[in-house]
Amino acid sequence: MSTTGVAGLTLGGGHGYLTRRYGLSIDNLLAVDVVLADGSVVTASEREHPDLFWALRGGGGNFGVATSFAFRLQPVDMVGLAVTLWSPEHIGDVLRWYREFLPGAPEELYGFFAVLVVPSEPPFPEETHGRKMCAVVWCHSGTADEERLAEAFAVVNEPAPPAFHFTAPVPFPALQSLFDHLIPKGLQWYWRGDLFDAIPDGAIDVHAKFLEGIPTDLSTMHLYPVDAAGSRVGADDTAWAWRDAVWSGAFGGISPEPGEADLVRSWCVDYWSALHPYSMGGGYVNFLGADEGQDRVRATYRGHYDRLARVKRTYDPDNFFRHNQNIAPAAA
Ligand SMILES: Cc1cc2nc3c(=O)[nH]c(=O)nc-3n(C[C@H](O)[C@H](O)[C@H](O)COP(=O)(O)OP(=O)(O)OC[C@H]3O[C@@H](n4cnc5c(N)ncnc54)[C@H](O)[C@@H]3O)c2cc1C
Repeated sequence: MSTTGVAGLTLGGGHGYLTRRYGLSIDNLLAVDVVLADGSVVTASEREHPDLFWALRGGGGNFGVATSFAFRLQPVDMVGLAVTLWSPEHIGDVLRWYREFLPGAPEELYGFFAVLVVPSEPPFPEETHGRKMCAVVWCHSGTADEERLAEAFAVVNEPAPPAFHFTAPVPFPALQSLFDHLIPKGLQWYWRGDLFDAIPDGAIDVHAKFLEGIPTDLSTMHLYPVDAAGSRVGADDTAWAWRDAVWSGAFGGISPEPGEADLVRSWCVDYWSALHPYSMGGGYVNFLGADEGQDRVRATYRGHYDRLARVKRTYDPDNFFRHNQNIAPAAA
């Protein structure tokens, strides 16, 4: 989405269409200006306050107010967008293919798996409108040439014949804002997340069941790739604790109707709970719900929690910044 802010996204890690090629947002972060709890302003980078810089790369809004970010830029212009839809009866074949194909695919090829209800608008053909389907949304950052894209995406026929496959060269910002209009402000949302390093057969059965039970047109589940360049950074080099993960899963129960708040929450919690045994045990801080509790925050930071708590003690000993997925200062 192009509508979310850069600060929260970056401080939590930040993943997207370019992560397999260029890493997480934090992997391209060079320096951050931060207003600390005592009102002082510091710059955090590899050279200045490196402990704070380490913590800011994944530790969320726990350490101060970020007022400026310096990023390393990467050359990106036109990219190849593709969307492939398959009917629900093919979800097993699709996921068994996807779990093998994606981790071995070139790093310039990104594709997130989704269970969804097809939007009733072009380019989707009318016969797919409003139908529950599984999908992969692709971004090829290596070419926008239509012939080369057709060659690269011939693979989508391997698991099962797609119900629809669409490819187009687009400017990268157009891809980033492609779904903005479908998810305007003011909707009922309930969401959760978990990290995954595999999609075993048992997990596929869970996806099939909850695809069938999607409660509203906007509710969805995505598996976002965080492998390839996202895995090449050392496990302890940043506070993001999931360099060995392949997918960051997001479960979103979404509806415009306040009366459907419980309905979308139940689907989301039940789906997440059924899949959690197949996860790596923790989530992505930016997909953590507000009501998930302190154990989930600890699980999210995995083996990095205690080190984060020590950095918190140095920079925010009174826990001034606590209205967040909170890391409590370590005891002195
Ligand atoms: C529709 C949608 C799609 C999304 N897609 C993705 C995705 O593809 N990839 C991904 O990685 N994430 C995604 N997210 C999650 C997103 O990363 C988080 O919602 C993130 O918090 C958004 O950043 P923000 O600046 O808008 O945060 P806000 O909602 O403004 O704030 C959230 C928290 O971030 C912290 N924070 C925000 N700004 C600052 C600051 N200046 N200084 C210190 N702390 C701050 C605070 O703790 C704050 O409570 C998505 C979210 C939504 C709603």
